[in-house]
Amino acid sequence: MYWKNAFIYTFRKDPAEAEVISHKLMIRAGMIKKVASGIYSYLPLGLRVIRRIENIIREELNKRGAAELFMPVVVPAELWQESGRWNLYGPELLRFTDRKNNRFCLGPTHEEVVVDIARQAIRSYRDMPLCLYQIQDKFRDEIRPRFGLMRGREFIMKDAYSFHADESSLDEMYWKMYDAYTAIFKRSGLEFRSVEADSGAIGGDVTHEFHVLAESGEDTVVYCESCDYAANIEKAAGRRQLNENAGDIPEDAPQPTEVATPDKKTIEEVATFLNVKPSDTIKMLVYEVNGGEYLVAVCIRGDLELNESKLKNVLGAESVAIPDEESLSSLIDIPVGFLGAHDVDKKSIREIVADFSVSYMKDCVGGANKKDYHLIHVYPSRDLYIDRYADLAYVTENEECARCGNGKLKLRRGIEVGQIFKLGVKYSKPMNLTYLNDKGEKIPVIMGCYGIGLGRTAAAAIEQNHDKDGIIWPIEIAPYKVAILCLDTSNPEAVALSNKIHDQLEDKGVDVILDDRDDRPGVKFKDCDLIGFPIRVVIGEKGLKNRTVEVKKRTVPEPQKVAVDKAVSYILDSIKSLYKK
Ligand code: ATP
Ligand code: MG
Repeated sequence: MYWKNAFIYTFRKDPAEAEVISHKLMIRAGMIKKVASGIYSYLPLGLRVIRRIENIIREELNKRGAAELFMPVVVPAELWQESGRWNLYGPELLRFTDRKNNRFCLGPTHEEVVVDIARQAIRSYRDMPLCLYQIQDKFRDEIRPRFGLMRGREFIMKDAYSFHADESSLDEMYWKMYDAYTAIFKRSGLEFRSVEADSGAIGGDVTHEFHVLAESGEDTVVYCESCDYAANIEKAAGRRQLNENAGDIPEDAPQPTEVATPDKKTIEEVATFLNVKPSDTIKMLVYEVNGGEYLVAVCIRGDLELNESKLKNVLGAESVAIPDEESLSSLIDIPVGFLGAHDVDKKSIREIVADFSVSYMKDCVGGANKKDYHLIHVYPSRDLYIDRYADLAYVTENEECARCGNGKLKLRRGIEVGQIFKLGVKYSKPMNLTYLNDKGEKIPVIMGCYGIGLGRTAAAAIEQNHDKDGIIWPIEIAPYKVAILCLDTSNPEAVALSNKIHDQLEDKGVDVILDDRDDRPGVKFKDCDLIGFPIRVVIGEKGLKNRTVEVKKRTVPEPQKVAVDKAVSYILDSIKSLYKK
């Protein structure tokens, strides 16, 4: 490919709206162009990276017996009504009406469409296992699109769906996909971790996320230093259990006493004012469950943070949310900031749940249920009405691992690039996807689903692989593996040699681009580093005199002088050496 034909436009300055490095560099290197918030065009260089990732995905999935298809972005409401998601899915689902007043949505994921395909084909257990996948545009009307391709509204996803007659077949496919994902992200040159995750809105029981480790990640992954436990922060289990000795309170222990805490509402304010540690205070929060169906109160040690995913699971709830101050005051007449669990109006609050941490607390501080007052000398088992205890807190750095009990938990930022789910019968049941077993009975098909965000994977690769000059593409997903810089396009000898090496590399099947612009060398070097081609070949006047070219890997500072007649084989060897073993 010749640069002049390749449609490459670079920018020296960072775009104003870009917060993370991958977004800045993708725009500056001319990979993507914003069309609207969270919606991008993929320019030729960016598209080449996406295609590389696609190819890796295809190879790994095809090898494991998955078949590719292509479903539409526009999906009729009827299918989503059948699954029940038309009403359940929030405003991320873009719904619209056509000229005949038919309702549609833009697919944010394709379980409904694929189930509709599968139910015309699957008749008996002999038709399974079956795995179908596509690489296609999704639309989610994200509330805060940002970070370029990392959190877009329209984005390219590989979504796969598998169909099974029994759990063991699903289990086999699940781990096969787990292996495929491991191979895909490894081949894409990424440092990543697979973690147990919460199954959230898609449902199902077992799920893993694949996270690329990077400071800019929006998620937190937790892993144990000594065993192989790894989970995302929403799911990560705390080691703390109920304190069996919580009831052992000395008889002469002081009784709860009200103290004035004027205007001190937050844990920090109260702890500082009363000269205690935040871990000696109890935080009590009131939650509205299932969009206002009922209220629960939750107690947790003041220095810990409540994990709403855990709360949802403990309550078996669809949703939990803290009502705003105004609506809360219309529901209970206790001032926010002074809530305590020692006397609670059970008419308005259905139950009080507490994190295990509370069962270890003694002689601590809680709200007095009275404006500007707190209670001191609170012993939870003696003084508080707690209906049940559970693991409700986010784990913290260096906490003991719940799996092995020895290791310490570490927290790192991660970018979720893929997720695999055991779905079970969540879609097949309402949508009547069944098969006949050998007794002639109709049984719902068991499903799995498996997603990878391609744009997010490309962006994550940049987050991990860049320096002050630009991107450093891992060889497998680079837009071109080799860039030849012809420094003097007015010198026919330089042009002839550049063309020759270019053609020879192309003949060998190498993705190579020849910078044939009539620009200054400085411009060419800068662009080459910015775009991040793994190998740079420089053909300049000096080298021509001694019949050498300069070959440099993007990852090493110094170029190598290579004799012209050895150049092609040297470049081929350099490419090979860059592939991860
Ligand atoms: P997130 O929690 O980041 O919103 P998700 O868990 O909702 O993502 P999935 O439904 O698991 O996403 O989708 C599969 C994959 O699609 C994700 O692992 C991610 O790589 C990609 N993806 C999801 N949402 C976006 C988005 N808004 N922009 C780009 N890629 C996305
Ligand atoms: Mg996910």
